[in-house]
Amino acid sequence: MEIFKKIAPLKAFLKEFRTVGDTIGLVPTMGALHNGHLSLIDTSKSQNSLTVCSIYVNPTQFNNPVDLQKYPRNLEEDVKLLQKVGCDVVFCPSNEEMYTGQASLKFDFGALDKVMEGKFRPGHFSGVALVVSKFFNIVNPDRAYFGQKDWQQFAIIQQVVEELKFGLTLHSVPTLREADGLAMSSRNLRLNEQERLKATIFHQSLLAAQENLRQGRKITDAKKLVEEMIKKVPGVTLEYFEVADSKNLNVLEFVNEAEKPILCIAGYVGDVRLIDNMFLK
Ligand code: AMP
Repeated sequence: MEIFKKIAPLKAFLKEFRTVGDTIGLVPTMGALHNGHLSLIDTSKSQNSLTVCSIYVNPTQFNNPVDLQKYPRNLEEDVKLLQKVGCDVVFCPSNEEMYTGQASLKFDFGALDKVMEGKFRPGHFSGVALVVSKFFNIVNPDRAYFGQKDWQQFAIIQQVVEELKFGLTLHSVPTLREADGLAMSSRNLRLNEQERLKATIFHQSLLAAQENLRQGRKITDAKKLVEEMIKKVPGVTLEYFEVADSKNLNVLEFVNEAEKPILCIAGYVGDVRLIDNMFLK
């Protein structure tokens, strides 16, 4: 496995590697890798001649400086995991390598980033779009892989790819969960034993709301149910629960199956912010 910290030698390596018919798959991550990340690597490996995993905690996508400071970092362990699953290339740049001075380029996604994550984390998606665009330019992949857990991110990057004509295909990979349903996340490492147990409430309330909606109940009823379930767990707070059109992320008031609704939730367990989602069908 090749490890690069600098852009120029990575580009030179990829140029040398790529001959007619070869494809490159990119898996962008912020490290503290778990099996969810590794399933993206596996998917990329099964579809491409070479898989590049980037590990970079991107400061411009953090609207909360404490969250950035406390974000788990474990490069040595990450490299071992990637080696084990047969990843071909790791790109782990420094801030200086990725940003020359202040980042001034801003993205505006209109309605797409005014709801849910965009509403509660202002500037987050502009930072995500900026860093992912940089990775696309550096690696020039044929395919890029993202997790369903960050569905809004996937929809936004899809728009970036279409508008900036990156000429690559995006793939969404299903969310990997712990045995008790908690969506795997690097942030789970920050939960203590009690918080870890409480964190399952997000998955449980998504399941309950999904069941409710499948039985034909109204979205307002499902929202009340989720709010009540979360309220019962001390130390857990709900930031939002929304049912949205999975393509344009319009928040729905009524279920319309043509919009392929997705149920999205975010909240805190102690001071750790977690998100999850589930399609209605
Ligand atoms: P992150 O390191 O949290 O920025 O995540 C990097 C990529 O892994 C993103 O595309 C995430 O959506 C994806 N990912 C994170 N958690 C999971 C999971 N539990 N299952 C599948 N993919 C995930």
